[in-house]
Amino acid sequence: MENLRKRIYLACPHMGGNEINYVMEAFAQNWIAPVGPNIAKFEKAIAAYIGVKHVAALTSGSAALHLALVLLGVQRGDEVIASTLTFAATINPVVYMGAVPILVDSEPDSWNMSPDLLEEAIRDRIKKGKRPKAIIPVHIYGMPANMSRIMEIANRYEIPVIEDAAEALGSRYRDQPAGSFGKLGVLSFNGNKIITTSGGGALVSNDEKLIDKARFLSTQARDDAPWYQHSEIGYNYRLSNVLAGIGLGQMEVIDERVKRKRALFDFYRKQFYDFEGVEFLAEPDGAHYSNFWLTCLTVDPLKCGVTRDEIRLALEKENIESRPTWKPMHLQPVFSACPAYVDGTSDRLFEFGLCLPSGTGMTDEECQEVSRIMQSCFKVVF
Ligand SMILES: *Cc1c(COP(=O)(O)O)cnc(C)c1O
Repeated sequence: MENLRKRIYLACPHMGGNEINYVMEAFAQNWIAPVGPNIAKFEKAIAAYIGVKHVAALTSGSAALHLALVLLGVQRGDEVIASTLTFAATINPVVYMGAVPILVDSEPDSWNMSPDLLEEAIRDRIKKGKRPKAIIPVHIYGMPANMSRIMEIANRYEIPVIEDAAEALGSRYRDQPAGSFGKLGVLSFNGNKIITTSGGGALVSNDEKLIDKARFLSTQARDDAPWYQHSEIGYNYRLSNVLAGIGLGQMEVIDERVKRKRALFDFYRKQFYDFEGVEFLAEPDGAHYSNFWLTCLTVDPLKCGVTRDEIRLALEKENIESRPTWKPMHLQPVFSACPAYVDGTSDRLFEFGLCLPSGTGMTDEECQEVSRIMQSCFKVVF
Protein backbone atom coordinates (compact mmCIF):
# COMPACT_ATOMS: atom_id res chain seq x y z
CA MET A 1 0.00 0.00 0.00
CA GLU A 2 1.26 3.40 -0.81
CA ASN A 3 2.39 5.51 2.09
CA LEU A 4 0.65 8.84 1.66
CA ARG A 5 2.17 10.64 4.62
CA LYS A 6 4.86 13.07 3.56
CA ARG A 7 8.42 12.00 4.16
CA ILE A 8 9.95 12.88 7.52
CA TYR A 9 13.46 14.16 6.89
CA LEU A 10 16.54 14.28 9.07
CA ALA A 11 16.61 18.10 8.96
CA CYS A 12 14.87 20.48 6.58
CA PRO A 13 15.11 24.19 5.91
CA HIS A 14 12.63 25.96 8.19
CA MET A 15 11.81 29.53 7.24
CA GLY A 16 10.64 32.00 9.86
CA GLY A 17 8.53 34.06 7.44
CA ASN A 18 10.46 37.29 7.16
CA GLU A 19 13.16 35.90 4.86
CA ILE A 20 11.06 36.59 1.77
CA ASN A 21 10.71 40.27 2.73
CA TYR A 22 14.47 40.76 2.83
CA VAL A 23 14.81 38.94 -0.48
CA MET A 24 12.06 41.06 -2.06
CA GLU A 25 13.77 44.17 -0.78
CA ALA A 26 16.93 43.07 -2.55
CA PHE A 27 14.92 42.62 -5.74
CA ALA A 28 13.12 45.95 -5.34
CA GLN A 29 16.41 47.78 -5.02
CA ASN A 30 18.05 45.61 -7.68
CA TRP A 31 20.73 44.46 -5.23
CA ILE A 32 20.90 41.16 -7.10
CA ALA A 33 24.62 41.57 -7.68
CA PRO A 34 26.85 39.90 -5.11
CA VAL A 35 27.25 43.11 -3.08
CA GLY A 36 24.50 44.87 -1.17
CA PRO A 37 23.26 46.01 2.22
CA ASN A 38 21.91 42.63 3.45
CA ILE A 39 25.43 41.26 3.66
CA ALA A 40 26.71 43.76 6.21
CA LYS A 41 23.47 43.48 8.22
CA PHE A 42 23.70 39.68 8.25
CA GLU A 43 27.34 39.84 9.32
CA LYS A 44 26.41 42.20 12.15
CA ALA A 45 23.61 39.91 13.34
CA ILE A 46 25.96 36.94 13.50
CA ALA A 47 28.69 38.92 15.23
CA ALA A 48 26.23 40.06 17.90
CA TYR A 49 24.79 36.58 18.34
CA ILE A 50 28.07 34.78 18.96
CA GLY A 51 29.94 37.66 20.53
CA VAL A 52 32.77 38.08 18.04
CA LYS A 53 33.88 41.39 16.61
CA HIS A 54 34.19 40.52 12.92
CA VAL A 55 32.38 38.28 10.45
CA ALA A 56 32.81 37.63 6.72
CA ALA A 57 29.76 36.07 5.05
CA LEU A 58 30.85 33.52 2.45
CA THR A 59 29.41 31.06 -0.05
CA SER A 60 29.80 28.04 2.24
CA GLY A 61 31.33 26.64 5.37
CA SER A 62 33.80 24.82 3.15
CA ALA A 63 34.90 28.14 1.64
CA ALA A 64 35.31 29.55 5.16
CA LEU A 65 37.54 26.61 6.17
CA HIS A 66 39.58 27.00 2.99
CA LEU A 67 40.12 30.73 3.58
CA ALA A 68 40.97 30.11 7.24
CA LEU A 69 43.85 27.88 6.16
CA VAL A 70 44.99 30.44 3.56
CA LEU A 71 44.89 33.21 6.21
CA LEU A 72 47.02 31.15 8.59
CA GLY A 73 49.61 30.69 5.86
CA VAL A 74 49.35 26.92 5.61
CA GLN A 75 51.78 25.70 2.94
CA ARG A 76 52.22 22.60 0.84
CA GLY A 77 53.51 19.78 3.02
CA ASP A 78 52.41 21.39 6.30
CA GLU A 79 50.42 19.35 8.79
CA VAL A 80 46.99 20.31 10.16
CA ILE A 81 45.33 18.45 13.03
CA ALA A 82 41.57 17.85 12.86
CA SER A 83 38.82 15.73 14.41
CA THR A 84 38.37 12.42 12.64
CA LEU A 85 34.67 12.18 13.54
CA THR A 86 33.34 14.81 11.17
CA PHE A 87 32.00 15.53 7.71
CA ALA A 88 34.59 15.38 4.89
CA ALA A 89 34.15 19.15 4.38
CA THR A 90 36.31 19.72 7.48
CA ILE A 91 39.25 17.87 5.93
CA ASN A 92 38.97 18.56 2.19
CA PRO A 93 40.28 22.15 2.41
CA VAL A 94 43.42 20.89 4.16
CA VAL A 95 44.08 18.83 1.05
CA TYR A 96 43.26 21.79 -1.25
CA MET A 97 46.24 23.50 0.41
CA GLY A 98 48.52 20.56 -0.30
CA ALA A 99 48.79 20.06 3.46
CA VAL A 100 48.50 16.76 5.35
CA PRO A 101 45.51 16.12 7.64
CA ILE A 102 46.44 14.58 10.99
CA LEU A 103 43.33 12.90 12.38
CA VAL A 104 42.48 12.77 16.08
CA ASP A 105 39.86 10.56 17.69
CA SER A 106 36.91 11.49 19.89
CA GLU A 107 36.35 11.33 23.61
CA PRO A 108 33.42 9.01 24.39
CA ASP A 109 31.19 11.51 26.20
CA SER A 110 31.03 14.55 23.88
CA TRP A 111 32.02 12.58 20.72
CA ASN A 112 34.44 15.45 20.00
CA MET A 113 38.22 15.72 19.73
CA SER A 114 39.87 14.05 22.73
CA PRO A 115 42.19 16.57 24.40
CA ASP A 116 44.47 13.73 25.52
CA LEU A 117 44.86 12.35 22.00
CA LEU A 118 45.30 15.90 20.68
CA GLU A 119 48.26 16.43 22.95
CA GLU A 120 49.68 13.03 22.07
CA ALA A 121 49.38 13.87 18.36
CA ILE A 122 51.06 17.28 18.77
CA ARG A 123 53.96 15.78 20.72
CA ASP A 124 54.46 12.97 18.25
CA ARG A 125 54.34 15.27 15.22
CA ILE A 126 56.87 17.64 16.82
CA LYS A 127 59.09 14.65 17.66
CA LYS A 128 58.89 13.60 14.00
CA GLY A 129 60.10 17.08 13.04
CA LYS A 130 56.88 18.92 12.15
CA ARG A 131 54.98 21.40 14.27
CA PRO A 132 51.30 21.32 13.21
CA LYS A 133 50.19 24.60 11.59
CA ALA A 134 46.62 24.56 12.89
CA ILE A 135 44.13 22.56 14.93
CA ILE A 136 40.54 22.13 13.70
CA PRO A 137 38.24 20.86 16.47
CA VAL A 138 34.65 20.23 15.39
CA HIS A 139 31.49 20.63 17.49
CA ILE A 140 29.82 17.53 16.12
CA TYR A 141 26.04 17.46 15.84
CA GLY A 142 26.07 20.75 17.75
CA MET A 143 27.64 19.29 20.89
CA PRO A 144 30.43 21.64 21.97
CA ALA A 145 33.91 20.18 22.30
CA ASN A 146 35.87 20.59 25.52
CA MET A 147 37.20 24.00 24.46
CA SER A 148 38.84 24.81 27.81
CA ARG A 149 41.27 21.95 27.48
CA ILE A 150 41.68 22.18 23.71
CA MET A 151 42.50 25.92 23.90
CA GLU A 152 44.85 25.37 26.84
CA ILE A 153 46.80 22.74 24.87
CA ALA A 154 46.76 24.78 21.63
CA ASN A 155 48.00 27.87 23.47
CA ARG A 156 50.71 25.93 25.27
CA TYR A 157 52.09 24.66 21.95
CA GLU A 158 51.31 27.99 20.24
CA ILE A 159 49.23 26.44 17.47
CA PRO A 160 46.25 28.45 16.15
CA VAL A 161 42.76 26.95 16.38
CA ILE A 162 40.16 27.03 13.60
CA GLU A 163 36.86 26.05 15.18
CA ASP A 164 34.56 24.14 12.87
CA ALA A 165 31.24 25.32 14.30
CA ALA A 166 29.36 24.52 11.07
CA GLU A 167 26.85 22.44 13.04
CA ALA A 168 26.96 24.44 16.26
CA LEU A 169 25.47 27.91 15.84
CA GLY A 170 23.69 28.50 19.16
CA SER A 171 25.81 26.03 21.18
CA ARG A 172 27.96 27.15 24.10
CA TYR A 173 30.80 25.86 26.23
CA ARG A 174 31.05 27.33 29.73
CA ASP A 175 28.58 29.95 28.52
CA GLN A 176 30.80 31.04 25.63
CA PRO A 177 29.33 30.61 22.12
CA ALA A 178 30.77 27.92 19.86
CA GLY A 179 32.79 29.55 17.11
CA SER A 180 34.19 32.28 19.35
CA PHE A 181 37.08 30.38 20.98
CA GLY A 182 39.58 29.92 18.17
CA LYS A 183 41.65 32.41 16.23
CA LEU A 184 39.06 31.78 13.52
CA GLY A 185 35.62 30.18 13.62
CA VAL A 186 33.64 28.63 10.78
CA LEU A 187 29.85 28.56 10.36
CA SER A 188 27.69 26.92 7.71
CA PHE A 189 24.25 27.94 6.46
CA ASN A 190 23.76 24.96 4.19
CA GLY A 191 20.18 23.73 3.73
CA ASN A 192 20.37 21.10 6.47
CA LYS A 193 21.98 23.26 9.18
CA ILE A 194 20.17 24.91 12.08
CA ILE A 195 19.65 28.05 10.01
CA THR A 196 20.15 28.27 6.29
CA THR A 197 20.70 30.75 3.48
CA SER A 198 20.08 27.83 1.07
CA GLY A 199 23.85 27.71 0.80
CA GLY A 200 26.31 29.86 2.69
CA GLY A 201 28.84 30.13 5.46
CA ALA A 202 30.86 32.58 7.51
CA LEU A 203 34.30 33.09 8.90
CA VAL A 204 34.37 34.80 12.30
CA SER A 205 37.17 36.27 14.42
CA ASN A 206 38.04 38.98 16.87
CA ASP A 207 41.00 39.85 14.64
CA GLU A 208 39.90 42.59 12.25
CA LYS A 209 42.90 42.16 9.95
CA LEU A 210 42.09 38.50 9.37
CA ILE A 211 38.47 39.17 8.48
CA ASP A 212 39.35 42.16 6.25
CA LYS A 213 41.77 39.89 4.45
CA ALA A 214 39.09 37.18 4.17
CA ARG A 215 36.74 39.66 2.46
CA PHE A 216 39.56 40.70 0.11
CA LEU A 217 40.45 37.11 -0.80
CA SER A 218 36.80 36.09 -1.16
CA THR A 219 36.22 38.76 -3.83
CA GLN A 220 39.10 37.74 -6.13
CA ALA A 221 41.88 39.64 -4.31
CA ARG A 222 41.59 42.87 -6.29
CA ASP A 223 44.25 45.43 -5.50
CA ASP A 224 43.25 49.05 -4.96
CA ALA A 225 43.63 50.19 -8.59
CA PRO A 226 41.25 51.52 -11.28
CA TRP A 227 41.89 48.42 -13.43
CA TYR A 228 41.75 44.83 -12.32
CA GLN A 229 45.10 44.24 -10.70
CA HIS A 230 46.09 41.26 -8.61
CA SER A 231 49.12 40.62 -6.43
CA GLU A 232 47.67 37.53 -4.78
CA ILE A 233 45.55 34.53 -5.68
CA GLY A 234 41.88 35.21 -4.95
CA TYR A 235 38.67 33.27 -4.67
CA ASN A 236 35.01 33.83 -5.58
CA TYR A 237 33.69 33.03 -2.11
CA ARG A 238 31.51 36.01 -1.08
CA LEU A 239 27.89 35.36 -0.05
CA SER A 240 25.39 37.08 -2.34
CA ASN A 241 23.14 39.88 -1.13
CA VAL A 242 20.01 37.89 -2.02
CA LEU A 243 21.06 34.93 0.11
CA ALA A 244 22.17 37.20 2.97
CA GLY A 245 18.52 38.36 3.00
CA ILE A 246 17.42 34.80 3.79
CA GLY A 247 20.04 34.75 6.54
CA LEU A 248 18.68 37.96 8.07
CA GLY A 249 15.24 36.40 8.35
CA GLN A 250 16.71 33.21 9.82
CA MET A 251 18.65 35.12 12.48
CA GLU A 252 15.31 36.46 13.76
CA VAL A 253 14.28 32.89 14.66
CA ILE A 254 17.57 31.26 15.70
CA ASP A 255 16.62 31.18 19.38
CA GLU A 256 13.32 29.46 18.57
CA ARG A 257 15.15 26.91 16.43
CA VAL A 258 17.62 26.07 19.21
CA LYS A 259 14.75 25.75 21.67
CA ARG A 260 12.87 23.37 19.40
CA LYS A 261 15.98 21.24 18.67
CA ARG A 262 16.58 20.92 22.40
CA ALA A 263 12.94 19.95 22.99
CA LEU A 264 13.19 17.25 20.29
CA PHE A 265 16.24 15.81 22.04
CA ASP A 266 14.44 15.83 25.41
CA PHE A 267 11.43 14.12 23.87
CA TYR A 268 13.42 11.30 22.26
CA ARG A 269 15.50 10.76 25.35
CA LYS A 270 12.44 10.42 27.53
CA GLN A 271 10.97 7.86 25.15
CA PHE A 272 14.05 5.67 25.54
CA TYR A 273 14.82 6.41 29.15
CA ASP A 274 14.60 2.81 30.34
CA PHE A 275 15.87 1.12 27.18
CA GLU A 276 19.08 -0.61 28.21
CA GLY A 277 21.71 -0.43 25.49
CA VAL A 278 20.49 2.88 24.07
CA GLU A 279 22.75 5.85 24.73
CA PHE A 280 22.18 9.38 23.56
CA LEU A 281 24.76 11.99 22.63
CA ALA A 282 23.84 14.09 25.66
CA GLU A 283 25.50 17.02 27.40
CA PRO A 284 28.23 15.40 29.52
CA ASP A 285 28.03 18.12 32.19
CA GLY A 286 26.83 21.65 32.87
CA ALA A 287 29.67 23.16 30.82
CA HIS A 288 28.16 21.88 27.57
CA TYR A 289 25.12 23.56 26.06
CA SER A 290 24.21 21.98 22.72
CA ASN A 291 21.96 23.28 19.97
CA PHE A 292 21.20 19.57 19.37
CA TRP A 293 21.36 20.10 15.63
CA LEU A 294 20.70 16.39 15.29
CA THR A 295 19.62 14.02 18.04
CA CYS A 296 21.96 11.02 17.93
CA LEU A 297 22.10 7.76 19.82
CA THR A 298 23.99 4.50 19.84
CA VAL A 299 22.27 1.13 19.87
CA ASP A 300 24.05 -1.85 21.44
CA PRO A 301 22.67 -4.82 19.49
CA LEU A 302 23.52 -7.31 22.25
CA LYS A 303 21.42 -5.44 24.80
CA CYS A 304 18.67 -4.22 22.45
CA GLY A 305 18.17 -7.26 20.23
CA VAL A 306 18.24 -4.97 17.21
CA THR A 307 20.96 -3.25 15.21
CA ARG A 308 21.26 0.37 14.21
CA ASP A 309 20.69 -0.60 10.58
CA GLU A 310 17.57 -2.63 11.32
CA ILE A 311 16.10 0.44 13.02
CA ARG A 312 17.15 2.66 10.13
CA LEU A 313 15.53 0.32 7.59
CA ALA A 314 12.34 0.02 9.65
CA LEU A 315 12.06 3.81 9.66
CA GLU A 316 12.82 3.99 5.94
CA LYS A 317 9.99 1.55 5.26
CA GLU A 318 7.68 4.11 6.86
CA ASN A 319 9.14 6.91 4.73
CA ILE A 320 11.21 8.32 7.59
CA GLU A 321 14.80 9.37 7.06
CA SER A 322 17.46 8.53 9.62
CA ARG A 323 21.19 8.13 9.01
CA PRO A 324 24.22 6.34 10.43
CA THR A 325 26.47 8.75 12.32
CA TRP A 326 29.46 10.20 10.45
CA LYS A 327 31.92 7.65 9.14
CA PRO A 328 35.22 8.83 10.65
CA MET A 329 37.75 10.29 8.25
CA HIS A 330 40.46 7.74 9.10
CA LEU A 331 38.08 5.04 7.78
CA GLN A 332 37.39 6.90 4.52
CA PRO A 333 39.14 5.46 1.46
CA VAL A 334 40.34 8.93 0.41
CA PHE A 335 41.92 9.75 3.81
CA SER A 336 43.05 6.28 4.91
CA ALA A 337 46.74 7.14 4.44
CA CYS A 338 46.57 10.18 6.77
CA PRO A 339 48.37 9.80 10.10
CA ALA A 340 45.72 9.10 12.74
CA TYR A 341 45.75 9.13 16.54
CA VAL A 342 42.79 6.90 17.29
CA ASP A 343 41.71 4.61 20.10
CA GLY A 344 38.57 2.98 18.69
CA THR A 345 36.06 5.50 20.06
CA SER A 346 34.84 6.92 16.74
CA ASP A 347 34.96 3.44 15.17
CA ARG A 348 32.44 2.32 17.78
CA LEU A 349 30.30 5.43 17.38
CA PHE A 350 30.15 4.78 13.64
CA GLU A 351 29.29 1.11 14.15
CA PHE A 352 26.38 1.75 16.52
CA GLY A 353 25.35 5.38 15.98
CA LEU A 354 22.17 6.70 14.39
CA CYS A 355 20.97 10.27 13.71
CA LEU A 356 17.24 10.70 14.23
CA PRO A 357 14.87 13.01 12.37
CA SER A 358 15.49 16.38 14.01
CA GLY A 359 13.78 18.94 11.82
CA THR A 360 12.49 21.94 13.76
CA GLY A 361 9.38 21.82 11.57
CA MET A 362 8.43 18.34 12.82
CA THR A 363 5.16 18.08 14.71
CA ASP A 364 4.85 16.34 18.07
CA GLU A 365 2.79 13.62 16.36
CA GLU A 366 5.60 12.99 13.89
CA CYS A 367 8.13 12.66 16.73
CA GLN A 368 5.83 10.22 18.47
CA GLU A 369 5.49 8.18 15.33
CA VAL A 370 9.27 8.02 14.86
CA SER A 371 9.85 6.77 18.39
CA ARG A 372 6.91 4.33 18.22
CA ILE A 373 8.34 2.71 15.08
CA MET A 374 11.78 2.58 16.65
CA GLN A 375 10.48 1.02 19.85
CA SER A 376 8.63 -1.67 17.91
CA CYS A 377 12.05 -2.86 16.65
CA PHE A 378 13.40 -3.60 20.11
CA LYS A 379 13.35 -7.09 21.52
CA VAL A 380 13.85 -7.77 25.19
CA VAL A 381 17.05 -9.74 25.58
CA PHE A 382 18.01 -11.71 28.67
C1 LIG B 1 28.21 21.31 6.86
C2 LIG B 1 29.57 21.17 7.41
C3 LIG B 1 30.67 21.81 6.84
C4 LIG B 1 30.65 22.48 5.52
O1 LIG B 1 29.73 23.46 5.35
P1 LIG B 1 29.14 23.78 3.87
O2 LIG B 1 28.46 25.08 4.09
O3 LIG B 1 28.21 22.67 3.54
O4 LIG B 1 30.29 23.86 2.94
C5 LIG B 1 31.89 21.71 7.48
N1 LIG B 1 32.04 21.03 8.61
C6 LIG B 1 31.00 20.38 9.18
C7 LIG B 1 31.23 19.66 10.47
C8 LIG B 1 29.75 20.41 8.60
O5 LIG B 1 28.73 19.74 9.15
